[in-house]
Amino acid sequence: MIKVVAVQPHSIGKELGLEPGTELLAVNGRELEDFLDWEFLTADEAFVLHVRRPDGEEIEFEIERPFEEPMGVALEPARIRRCANRCDFCFVDGLPPGLRDVLYIRDDDYRLSFRYGNFATLTNLKAHDIERIIEYRLSPLYVSVHATDPVVRRYLLRNPTAPEIIPQLRRFADHGIQFHTQVVLSPGVNDGAVLRRTLDDLWGFGPAVLSCSVVPVGLTEFSKHHLCREPAMDECRAAVGEAESRWPVAVSARGAHWVYGADELYLRAGLALPPAAAYDGFEQVENGVGAVRWLQQRIASAADGFDDWAGRRIGVVTGTAMAALMPQVLEPLGRATGAEFELVAVENTLFGPSVTTAGLLPGRAIEAALAGRPSLELALLPGEALNDDGLFIDSMSLEQLAAQVPFEIRLSKDFVDALDVPLAA
Ligand code: SF4
Repeated sequence: MIKVVAVQPHSIGKELGLEPGTELLAVNGRELEDFLDWEFLTADEAFVLHVRRPDGEEIEFEIERPFEEPMGVALEPARIRRCANRCDFCFVDGLPPGLRDVLYIRDDDYRLSFRYGNFATLTNLKAHDIERIIEYRLSPLYVSVHATDPVVRRYLLRNPTAPEIIPQLRRFADHGIQFHTQVVLSPGVNDGAVLRRTLDDLWGFGPAVLSCSVVPVGLTEFSKHHLCREPAMDECRAAVGEAESRWPVAVSARGAHWVYGADELYLRAGLALPPAAAYDGFEQVENGVGAVRWLQQRIASAADGFDDWAGRRIGVVTGTAMAALMPQVLEPLGRATGAEFELVAVENTLFGPSVTTAGLLPGRAIEAALAGRPSLELALLPGEALNDDGLFIDSMSLEQLAAQVPFEIRLSKDFVDALDVPLAA
């Protein structure tokens, strides 16, 4: 059963009399479990929908609709699948105390992997989940592999019952499912020969494994430092070397570089980022892989559309990780717009300075950093620092922050999205 939380006006759902609180029970006699069932089972042009109205009345509708006309109902959020692992480097363990409860939930959900590209380990799949992945052909899935050696993987996940990943992926691949994969690099555990074997095994899947990223472990002040550590410069260099050594064969055989180091891996290795072409379709940009080159491309492609910015002073808020790379982005942005960009690298006051990502910046740290920049006319904030409810990780809202800052603030994912409207005169 899935509950309706909203119905669009002039939609099929509205015509049927569905309303918030209506329970969607079954489609063509099949019980509905979550949004996946709803989307896949109602994809046909004709189906029978069984509902229970808020007053308890049950009704069956025989629905015929033009292809792809949406039903117009919003569903209650799915209950998130909990993680069965206890990785030493788990981000949840690295959270400071006192945050919103929801932030301490370890999710590991194949449905969100399919829908949003969240990485999942597939260690908590039940037989029913496996059948759904195959039946609905949930592809591509984003999979945290870390190591294909089952002993190493179980150690990394701290899960002695984790199923072996190779047979799991094989079964799905045999049904046409593809994967984007990642290796979170834990030095001394899954680098070196283990990384080599992992990449060999994943490459051996052929086109079923679309990409593999190598991302260095990131820890906070609160992480289990007695159990794991971040990779040193030489270890990051070795991992970059392992990845890049595979490029000639990958490009020749598949027309793509296939294995990609995260920007952070290059940064920690003290190596220059590869050119944009080395990231192919930027498939894992949301995972911090090729983010700088992607931004540069976005700016270059929009360069003709920046009017009204000449001479303006614009602050660009980011975490300390991107601060080192950001000049490579702000320089072409300044040329394209004529504006003066000022980098505002904000240290994370909640997690400690070792947490350098922009997505985890607390609103209060941004407020404090902007307070020292009175000459700015606009500040661009990293869009990923806010959740869907418009809250920073410390529960400060965007409105609260805006009220404290004497100039306009705008959220931005790629700068281009925030510079399409001029400043108010
Ligand atoms: S898979 Fe590991 S890192 Fe991810 S939520 Fe579970 S314990 Fe944490």
